[in-house]
Amino acid sequence: MQDQLKQLQQEALSSIENASDLKSLNEIRVSYLGKKGPITEALRGMGKLSAEERPKMGALANEVRESIAASIAAKQEGLEAAAVEAKLASETIDVTLPGNPVLIGNHHPITAVIEEIEDLFLSMGYSIEEGPEVETDYYNFEALNLPKGHPARDMQDSFYITDEVLLRTHTSPVQARTMKKYDGKGPVKIICPGKVYRRDSDDATHSHQFTQIEGLVVDENISMSDLKGTLEVFARKMFGDDREIRLRPSFFPFTEPSVEVDVSCFSCGGKGCSVCKGTGWIEILGAGMVHPNVLEMAGFDSKVYQGFAFGMGPERIAMLKYGIDDIRHFYTNDIRFLKQFKRA
Ligand SMILES: [Zn+2]
Repeated sequence: MQDQLKQLQQEALSSIENASDLKSLNEIRVSYLGKKGPITEALRGMGKLSAEERPKMGALANEVRESIAASIAAKQEGLEAAAVEAKLASETIDVTLPGNPVLIGNHHPITAVIEEIEDLFLSMGYSIEEGPEVETDYYNFEALNLPKGHPARDMQDSFYITDEVLLRTHTSPVQARTMKKYDGKGPVKIICPGKVYRRDSDDATHSHQFTQIEGLVVDENISMSDLKGTLEVFARKMFGDDREIRLRPSFFPFTEPSVEVDVSCFSCGGKGCSVCKGTGWIEILGAGMVHPNVLEMAGFDSKVYQGFAFGMGPERIAMLKYGIDDIRHFYTNDIRFLKQFKRA
């Protein structure tokens, strides 16, 4: 019986040694140490032994059982540790791999230009005024010295919604609305940025929707030289410190006199190049002294108050500033175009 137990022990230890995973180790445990296992079987035969031998064999059987159990426990620990190792190895994170880049948006070039212009005029004490894009005929035309039937209305092909309501064709109605708010008392010093709409066919230089910024100053003793000085500051801020401006006579119904304003070419410095079409000057905006009729209609006494106004297209400013050749780039939202304009 002693030999039988020793042999069992050897067999068990060798199969434990060879067990390759926890499942087969568990099968070994059940087959050797279970109630129907060979050790239990051997102990059952102890009744046939002499009283002397019985305790010896009992002790040996326990010794064998314990050594098998201890060996299984040790093997199990080893297999479990190996399993954890394998799992860790399969889930290793390489912290040196580059991450997924997070895309950061830019200002749209038009927004950037508008904000730059706003900042400049805010620094000169202007405030920003906004108004509705769906406007009445009265504020869009009549209050600006453009009564019904006035030929200059044809200069601005309009999107009418009803006979009296339209999409504003310029930001000038914001000036008319704001002057009314001041109730005949100056000073008024505002800029009005916003979207405007014209019935134009879209091409490289025209769009049915675009933006404008208008400026208006109404006060006592305002003259053309105030306008010129203000626009000089503007031109130098947007196009460089060496810029000169020149005023050419023009016509707008809401200003008298009216001027077109040119800035000396920032590309050639005035010698003549393709940007300025060889003239050395680039037209950037329209301006003038507020027409007395416009002042009177807004409730200002035109004998006491004078004003100047100017209006410009941020699209044109951005096209000149960044060398953009087609206005449609601003609205088609091609990410390759937009991402060239980094946030300042
Ligand atoms: Zn030039």
